[in-house]
Amino acid sequence: MGSGIYLDYQASTPLDPRVTEAMAPYWTEFCGNAHSGEHAFGWAADEAVEDARARVAGLVGADPDEIVFTSGATEANNLALLGMARAAAPERRKVVVSAIEHKSVLAAARALTEEGFDLTVVPVGPDGVVDRGALASAVDSRTAVVSVMAVNNEVGTSQPLRHIADACDEAGAPFHVDAAQAMAFLPIDVVGTGIDLMSLSAHKCCGPKGVGAIYVRRGLSPRPRPLTFGGGQEGGLRPGTLPVPLCVGFGEACAILERERAKDTLHAAALRDRFLGELRRRLPDVRVNGTMDGRHPGNLNLHFPGVEATLLLNALQPHVAAASGSACTSGFQEPSHVLRAMGLTPSEAACSVRFGMGRFATEADIMRAAELVASAVADLRLAGAA
Ligand code: PMP
Repeated sequence: MGSGIYLDYQASTPLDPRVTEAMAPYWTEFCGNAHSGEHAFGWAADEAVEDARARVAGLVGADPDEIVFTSGATEANNLALLGMARAAAPERRKVVVSAIEHKSVLAAARALTEEGFDLTVVPVGPDGVVDRGALASAVDSRTAVVSVMAVNNEVGTSQPLRHIADACDEAGAPFHVDAAQAMAFLPIDVVGTGIDLMSLSAHKCCGPKGVGAIYVRRGLSPRPRPLTFGGGQEGGLRPGTLPVPLCVGFGEACAILERERAKDTLHAAALRDRFLGELRRRLPDVRVNGTMDGRHPGNLNLHFPGVEATLLLNALQPHVAAASGSACTSGFQEPSHVLRAMGLTPSEAACSVRFGMGRFATEADIMRAAELVASAVADLRLAGAA
């Protein structure tokens, strides 16, 4: 780990040492291709992958054959959106997404407009929760696919999945959920919730970067069309040789989560509340973006009036890592589309910072970070007033 205090768990999480250990032999002695059916090396790799698949499936209440490994949630989201739209019946020419989706959903949905699909972007309220009425009226018999995330990556707000699933069911439209941020703390039972497709990512839950999965409900019809073509692996939906060590790491991360998620949740929530309390004591005008109800326990998105996030984050280097908007959006100068959708002005959005806590953050980290943030804010305000 770096020397600073890491509070950017929604961008990525540290690898759990138990995951590193589980992966280790698969970088070295187990060199087989999981698709090589003619020798023991291949069988061992295949066994490891299938064990990992069962662990991922177990975490979300799916069966192993409903889990397809991908390179991460970005690929899974693209598969869900493009794959389902292209497979839809000719009269289903509409794609419905929420305004606060990750860019990998929004950009895929926009790309579909170039293929002749209509796009409906459903608004959210100032609380960061999707407008149920607008969503229900957007989903109809012309809808090819609906995509709403379980938990937002910038403001940590949870979305009403059961309600959306019911609206989709009524219209016969497939429902995709981006659960990249949810899996670390929110138990999602795909069957009980009525989800048809769901995206997962290992590096959001102390697993390795570069692997994720898409859940595809067994009875789903039509099936998503693949985006790439090759040797027919992963039921033909995602061809290519599987990265055995990454799959094993993802499986181990899911098994740990299943045992420790409740503990992780309490830990993150306690740190978050402590951090917020400490910051409020030092900076009474700090505001929380998005509702605290049902929020990701390790997420805070804070508005520091008059203090530009990029300056604040820079002033905190190399001591505290946090983020303005999502990492995938950084590099773009535009303010966060999520905060804008929630009704913040461009300057309010530009003065907002996301702090993310999780398994390996400590109380000492939090207390020190609060002190550093408060003094950087005070310095920047002084400099601004000078
Ligand atoms: N969806 C959400 C909600 C995310 O937070 C992220 C990661 N920023 C992704 C999708 C993309 O995941 P990955 O990095 O695995 O491609």
